[in-house]
Amino acid sequence: MESQATTRWVYSFGDGKAQGRADMKNLLGGKGANLAEMSNLGLPVPAGFTITTEVCTYYYANGRSYPADLKTQVEAALADVERSIGSRFGDAADPLLVSVRSGARASMPGMMDTVLNLGLNDETVRGLARRSGDERFAFDSYRRFIQMYGNVVLGVDHHHFEEILEHAKRDRDITLDTEMTSADWQAVVQDYKKAVAHALGRPFPQDVHEQLWGAIGAVFGSWMNQRAITYRRLHDIPADWGTAVNVQAMVFGNMGEDCATGVAFTRDPSTGENRFYGEYLVNAQGEDVVAGIRTPQHLTVAGKLANKSDLPAMEEVMPEVFAQLDAVRLRLERHYRDMQDIEFTVQQGKLYMLQTRTGKRTAAAALKIAVDLCAEGVVTREEAVRRIEPSSLDQLLHPTLDPKAQRTVIARGLPASPGAASGKLVFSADEAESLSEMGEAVILCRIETSPEDIHGMHAARGILTTRGGMTSHAAVVARGMGRACVAGAGELRVDYKGQTVMVRGVTIKAGDVVTIDGSTGEVMLGEVPTIQPELSGDFATLMGWADGIRRMRVRTNAETPLDARTAVRFGAEGIGLCRTEHMFFDTDRIVAVREMILAEDEAGRRAALAKIEPMQRRDFVELFGIMKGLPVTIRLLDPPLHEFLPNTEEEMAEVAAAAGIDAPRVRHRALQLHEANPMLGHRGCRLGISYPEIYEMQARAIFEAAVEVFRDSGETVTPEIMIPLVGSRKELDILKAVIDRVAGEVMQASGRRIDYLVGTMIELPRAALRAGDIAASAEFFSFGTNDLTQTTFGISRDDAASFLPDYQRHGILEHDPFVSLDQEGVGELVRLAVSRGRETRPDVKLGICGEHGGDPSSIRFCEQVGLDYVSCSPYRVPIARLAAAQATLAGERVGRD
Ligand code: ADP
Ligand code: MG
Ligand code: MG
Repeated sequence: MESQATTRWVYSFGDGKAQGRADMKNLLGGKGANLAEMSNLGLPVPAGFTITTEVCTYYYANGRSYPADLKTQVEAALADVERSIGSRFGDAADPLLVSVRSGARASMPGMMDTVLNLGLNDETVRGLARRSGDERFAFDSYRRFIQMYGNVVLGVDHHHFEEILEHAKRDRDITLDTEMTSADWQAVVQDYKKAVAHALGRPFPQDVHEQLWGAIGAVFGSWMNQRAITYRRLHDIPADWGTAVNVQAMVFGNMGEDCATGVAFTRDPSTGENRFYGEYLVNAQGEDVVAGIRTPQHLTVAGKLANKSDLPAMEEVMPEVFAQLDAVRLRLERHYRDMQDIEFTVQQGKLYMLQTRTGKRTAAAALKIAVDLCAEGVVTREEAVRRIEPSSLDQLLHPTLDPKAQRTVIARGLPASPGAASGKLVFSADEAESLSEMGEAVILCRIETSPEDIHGMHAARGILTTRGGMTSHAAVVARGMGRACVAGAGELRVDYKGQTVMVRGVTIKAGDVVTIDGSTGEVMLGEVPTIQPELSGDFATLMGWADGIRRMRVRTNAETPLDARTAVRFGAEGIGLCRTEHMFFDTDRIVAVREMILAEDEAGRRAALAKIEPMQRRDFVELFGIMKGLPVTIRLLDPPLHEFLPNTEEEMAEVAAAAGIDAPRVRHRALQLHEANPMLGHRGCRLGISYPEIYEMQARAIFEAAVEVFRDSGETVTPEIMIPLVGSRKELDILKAVIDRVAGEVMQASGRRIDYLVGTMIELPRAALRAGDIAASAEFFSFGTNDLTQTTFGISRDDAASFLPDYQRHGILEHDPFVSLDQEGVGELVRLAVSRGRETRPDVKLGICGEHGGDPSSIRFCEQVGLDYVSCSPYRVPIARLAAAQATLAGERVGRD
């Protein structure tokens, strides 16, 4: 193919220039694009090249083979690197060594680990020793290479290498790797090679080109490993994105005391404070800092003091290089206009930049950084609002430990990801997943975590590790997921076999409840009470900006006073769905409700309704009082009657006594009411059609409550009365007449005018199709997208779990349509109903009140079709406020182009 011959598969970088750029992430992956960008900025980046994600796509589309001209392009790029460094790959006298690094568009744990020092073999290691004048360094590098390559490319299990190293240290009575001599490392290298040969049945590859292509192939191969697949599934990353491979000249942080390696954030990733935050190790390489083998040291003196560390800071040990790094920090922040997460290495006093990317941060830090950057004039308010991931706000809305609560602190670790969590202790990711599926709150406890644990971390409320720092895998992943995390609680002794953890003579078993506080690092026995979060400061500032931007209103689904109060505190601008049946389930009224349902005639029903009405009125008085004049949409009785029916003999007897009839009659009536398919049965407005006195009672309670609230507080309530499960205008007309009549009666009796609206749910396909007609009678529509999804797909939500995963695996459905609105199908009905409804009644009020009202991507859809408001559960109100603002901004951008 002609186009193939001209495709560039390889992009070079280094020496102050690059063929790629930061905005080429799709092609070069995040790591490759930013290495190119840093090179272009003139920052010290070791020379290298990126093999594009298109090669990965090609590889899987062509039976795991490469484009024909890839080899030539790689060889040419490698020759450029050789020229830049001044040494040659595989040269026995002066070998060029490289790292091979994976890098997808989005940073993706689960991909192949980096292989360092590639290009070493029994000969080149001698050349490296001679050239560097440091034999110990050369063999330290070689043993690292054999272990990394052996493990990640050849698939030889870690523990083979770890055991050899442990034995070597024990034999020599050594605890630190840094105490190993050159001879020690040479012996380890021999043993490593033997272990590889033994495990594989062939020797460790000595041909450097075989090594290179082996590593490249392993990166592409890792795109389809189980860890990567799981991660992509959890994060909605499509498989066809592919990964890039970065091959880069090595620089050495392990060449002596004037060498170091480290990782840093340009601002504090936990709090967002504008201070340099990072960790480093002298005479170390690669992942030593995050692996927890040695205790990492702080970058700055301030960091060291804040963490009460007595190990010297980089600022003290290498002040000049630190100053350079600090300058790079400012440069990168100004350039990317956001907080960066950087990786660097110092070789003999010279700084090299190895990575930069937008830094993961807690939700609190994200808010502070966005608000601060706006104040610094770096970003606009709109941009600040756009940068906060709406669902991340969840982290801020959840409880923290009650400071007055009794607590038994048993250990302390690092405050790695904020929030407090209690749960049963488990020791494996699988256990965490299975217990949480059974509805248990769990705390996942591991010595340290790895990408294999992601599913368990996701399932757990909190994560506790005994090893690793603030930048350890557990800490980084937990912050990203919004899980509470205490990392590196070193006093805890975990015994995986015995399923226990010991600390100061106390033994905690799997299944015991513990509490962790990811904001302080404390680990506590038992469940500690929590309190609600403070919603002021940066949160209030940013939400205020969002409120100033968004067009749609945000209401809440609430019926209890507690939910209503919570939602108002979170900024709800009304109630979009008050489900009256929830008020019926209270123990003090369920008997009267059952009596009403089981009554054989209208007289019996009216007698029972008379008992319910005063209680229902009190509910509305309280709710209207809390909502202080904000709109309240009340849905009249909706559920299938079977949900209220008594199940036990005892309950039947109770109902019989209350109604003054005998128990067999009650049983008989209950049998009569049994339905084969209650979700499509006698429910919604069909109840009102059969038993108008029920809706009459509810309407009366609503109107009388409105009058009472006005009389007592002067607050004017405009109730919006909503009829559920309407399929035709006639249903609505009949029931609206009942409501209007009651309104007239209450106004007459009270001498007060009451403004109210009568509208309908649009939750049946027929209602959407007939929306033009229905709007002639309905003053508002509220899209009940839960039922509309069920009835459009013909899928019962309660039964979907058994096949939805298959549907997602086959790509029939990308998302669970009950979580994220199916915009093509269900959305089409919404669009249709909106336009037909508006045609009849231009000012028909439009809202949504299904689960989807709190889902950011569904909210974007609601903005696009022009709904007036979304309504969601109280805890999602701030998320919806922000998502609605972002939807407005997205719409404006589309409008401008
Ligand atoms: P990850 O995606 O897991 O962060 P990286 O590819 O960034 O993996 O590699 C991890 C670490 O390996 C880097 O932070 C750096 O310390 C080290 N490393 C990678 N490439 C080089 C290199 N060319 N020279 C020296 N160290 C390197
Ligand atoms: Mg890694
Ligand atoms: Mg990295």
